[in-house]
Amino acid sequence: MSYLAKNYNRKKISFKYGKGSYLYSSAGKKYLDFVSGIAVNSLGHSNPKLVKTIRDQSKKLWHVSNAFQIPEGEKLAKKLCKKTFADYVMFQNSGAEATEAAIKVARRYFYSIGKPNKNRILCIKNSFHGRTLATIYASGSKKMTEGFGPKVTGFDHFKFGDHNSFKKKITNNTAAIMVETIMGEGGIKVIPDWCLRELRAICNKKKILLILDEVQCGIGRSGDFFAFEKSKVKPDIVPIAKGIGGGFPIGAVLMNKKVASAMVPGTHGSTFGGNPLAMSVGNTVMDIVSTKKFLNNVKKSSKYFLSNLNKLKEKYSSIIKEIRGRGLLIGIQLHQDQTKFIKKLMDKKLLTIRAAENVVRILPPLNVKKKEIDIALKVIDKVCSEIK
Ligand SMILES: *Cc1c(COP(=O)(O)O)cnc(C)c1O
Repeated sequence: MSYLAKNYNRKKISFKYGKGSYLYSSAGKKYLDFVSGIAVNSLGHSNPKLVKTIRDQSKKLWHVSNAFQIPEGEKLAKKLCKKTFADYVMFQNSGAEATEAAIKVARRYFYSIGKPNKNRILCIKNSFHGRTLATIYASGSKKMTEGFGPKVTGFDHFKFGDHNSFKKKITNNTAAIMVETIMGEGGIKVIPDWCLRELRAICNKKKILLILDEVQCGIGRSGDFFAFEKSKVKPDIVPIAKGIGGGFPIGAVLMNKKVASAMVPGTHGSTFGGNPLAMSVGNTVMDIVSTKKFLNNVKKSSKYFLSNLNKLKEKYSSIIKEIRGRGLLIGIQLHQDQTKFIKKLMDKKLLTIRAAENVVRILPPLNVKKKEIDIALKVIDKVCSEIK
């Protein structure tokens, strides 16, 4: 029997080790891992540079309190700010902590300028921002909040794509709009660039903040360092996590000078957040994934993968409804429930994961090889032909 709580419906498989895009099961089978720990293992498994970083740093220093200077964190924060819209960074340990801290920053900003009643956050219904009490209510999902009352208040919701209801939901109490630039769990739904620009314009007009949750779609996953970059929009606050640690738990909130001014000593903290071990790994990931060459390669892999998936969509139009996504955050939306499809892919040694709206979510490591994409395409083709 298992002594782990039953809050996950786990597949009956475990892995002994991983290398690059592959995982090796305890039963000795080799799997192509296109889950990447849900957009976490951005450089695949046991990347030599990350192994070296963690080995070197672990001999020196793992953890000190944030009561002291942490040079590795200073370095990573500087890199993130030089590369993006941000002026300041606050390190956490996970995505939910980062989004929750983003909410705190937004509220605290309005408090600091004497407008404490501006404290409500406007989010997309059935989005995903994490599993803490506040973030489940931010997500506005019935399934995630059921049984966890009393409700955490301060969140309003609009339907994805419903621009009229969205505008009506902004009140004098609205502090910020928080959306995922690309909805991950929600079914790989991309917010179009024109729409991001419109959101920014509305936020400017109403003098409210724009929070773009890039926990899943950020750190090179979209082919740009941040998924919003192509739109030229500058958000105020951006929570990140998943990909930045390459498998080591790291979260962070990136913010501009204006809102960061509210985060004075004592307003927020984290015991583990930004410790030297985590920060060393983050620095190595950042050095690799933030280069133009690396990101161009993600774009190239994406183009190849997406165009071939679209060919499969034409070939199996009765099975595949739509190919979604950007970069290497890809969704195959099926006409029917995806459970059997994912199982069949796994039987053929290709690991994928579900998302809402019958979507098979595909998240290869960002340094995936063309021949690995070819293997995946072949497996997907085969499974479609068998289901037909
Ligand atoms: C995964 C995710 C989170 C939560 O991250 P955790 O590390 O699981 O807490 C928040 N926002 C988005 C968009 C995510 O995909």
